[in-house]
Amino acid sequence: MDEKKIQKLQEMIDSHKRIVFFGGAGVSTESGIKDFRSVDGLYNQKYDYPPEEILSHTFFMQMPGEFYRFYYDKIISIDADPNPAHLKLAELEKAGKLTAVITQNIDGLHQKAGSENVLELHGTVLKNTCMRCGKKFGVEYMKAPKGGIPVCDKCGSIIKPEVVLYEEGLDDDVIRRSIRALSEADMLIVGGTSLVVYPAAGLIDYFRGDALVLINKGSTGREAGADLVITDPIGQVLGKIVVR
Ligand code: ZN
Repeated sequence: MDEKKIQKLQEMIDSHKRIVFFGGAGVSTESGIKDFRSVDGLYNQKYDYPPEEILSHTFFMQMPGEFYRFYYDKIISIDADPNPAHLKLAELEKAGKLTAVITQNIDGLHQKAGSENVLELHGTVLKNTCMRCGKKFGVEYMKAPKGGIPVCDKCGSIIKPEVVLYEEGLDDDVIRRSIRALSEADMLIVGGTSLVVYPAAGLIDYFRGDALVLINKGSTGREAGADLVITDPIGQVLGKIVVR
């Protein structure tokens, strides 16, 4: 851990008051949630299709059973707990220092940590809707359904998670609020994302503040414009920050 960099991050956080956090899969790895794109050695024995195909709208409509087999195996983690990164961000928000968390994750861990203004670009596993009658269901209802496919207790139709699948558009309101938060921010912390996936790369350009921090294990392609680059695990880094 680079203590000098942690100290600099502390000073930057101390001297700013409209901080926005923009995060990706790396924020949740310290909570034991793997990036679903990581295809391990067993993957091809268990699945006949690549993850991106299974998580597409067409696939969901045509093979919901196979979709949900993957969903319960690789996507949903009801029992995962927030790590120090989630907790510190919630603390910064409560202290009036941080205005928004914008995330590409769908696991709901920021809310579980206590964050309130969470803008989920790719939706959330916490909300689910019946495809026929529109009845809403929380994540608890989705736990281990009979037959592997969750169905509505009112009309018997298939329930779809409010997760943005491939081929589906992002929510306009979430995008609008993300752009506003970024353009009004005085400091931006980007964490656990390589910033190569749309819309992350494009959204970051709305930031006009004077402090850009990147916390990511790998390269992000944005190092040139950054004021501080940290490659240590984000939970360990933010865990050291003192909120004051
Ligand atoms: Zn229904």
